Amino acid sequence: MVAMSELSVINARRPAAFAAVSDEEWSDWRWQHAHRLRTAEALSAVIRLRDDERQACERATERFPLAVTPYYASLMRPDDPGCPIRLQAIPRLAELERHPSDLADPLAEDEHRVAGALTHRYPDRAMLYTTHSCAVYCRHCNRRRKVGDPTSAPSKDDLRAAVAYLRQHPEVRDVLVSGGDPLSLSDERLDELLGSLRAIPHLEIIRVATRAVVTLPQRVTRDLVGVLRRHQPIYVATHFNHLAECSSEAAAALYALADGGAVIVNQMVLLKGINDDPAMVGRMNQWLLKNRCRPYYIFQCDPAVGISHFRTPIAAGLEIIEALRGFTSGLAVPHYVVDLPGGGGKVSLQPEYLLRREGKRLTFRNYLGKTFVYDEV
Ligand SMILES: *Cc1c(COP(=O)(O)O)cnc(C)c1O
Ligand code: SF4
Repeated sequence: MVAMSELSVINARRPAAFAAVSDEEWSDWRWQHAHRLRTAEALSAVIRLRDDERQACERATERFPLAVTPYYASLMRPDDPGCPIRLQAIPRLAELERHPSDLADPLAEDEHRVAGALTHRYPDRAMLYTTHSCAVYCRHCNRRRKVGDPTSAPSKDDLRAAVAYLRQHPEVRDVLVSGGDPLSLSDERLDELLGSLRAIPHLEIIRVATRAVVTLPQRVTRDLVGVLRRHQPIYVATHFNHLAECSSEAAAALYALADGGAVIVNQMVLLKGINDDPAMVGRMNQWLLKNRCRPYYIFQCDPAVGISHFRTPIAAGLEIIEALRGFTSGLAVPHYVVDLPGGGGKVSLQPEYLLRREGKRLTFRNYLGKTFVYDEV
């Protein structure tokens, strides 16, 4: 394995506010975490904030905290209010609005809890919640009702109860470790948790869902990779939403994870005015593939309270799939899914390729719009 220090690329875009920071500090996730930008004033040193953003930093953060790593801030275009990184990390006043269709717990995750820190909705897999802390608080977070509030995070007893439940349920063969961000745990705590899951013989695979690869790629250290390697097979689900997040630092983190034996998949959330752009998604997915990360899902934005300004029509997601299928590698084409409000689970949507069915004769269109016939026997 190539040593990670050889891979970590020094950030050429480092903002002037951080010019005095040494390369060692900048590439140390602890430094990044400790120096997160948490107020309008701190952000102003890096980007030019508008008055409404400044107000939102005060008012919207009463409901959902503000935190941006210097690294993630360095990806922002300082003078562009439409910058896709900025729109994901800087609060807006629209977060204070409530659309009539908004739901506090859109996926009924709390209702479907079977143990302190576990939602078991599907037959053979379950979702485990760890910490409620994240390196950067994504403004579009669908768990914003509790993420960012340390008092709501599962306790050690909740985690123990979840592990005990999994031990008693042999039908569960796949567990998703989620949060918040599980990489907010220390290596030791993560090792302990993954170890207790790996000790359950019927748990075939463990997935770790994290946004840190995007917002704090420095977190992917050799030690962390060692922890994940010990508990294989591990799937890591990342959350890249835009090509602007596809930096050399993120590439180095993916490289290290893949070389450490993890299978990496990406879950993108479709966000209005940010990534509802088929050409950009195509290029991002190709970049991800090149870096050994398979695009897995595009999620329709959930109707959580205060994020309706991020929601696109369903047609926007279908357009992306339509623009990818056939035009680029099938590996670059994720499933577009709607997680049904109220806990119905995920359903995947496809553009319609079957034009008509006459008895055993089916007429399709292909990706270029030409029609073809298939006869069933
Ligand atoms: C999304 C989800 C899963 C995993 O679903 P996959 O389609 O297998 O990725 C499991 N449990 C819950 C509660 C989920 O929301
Ligand atoms: S990292 Fe995930 S859990 Fe944390 S704020 Fe972002 S979307 Fe929410």
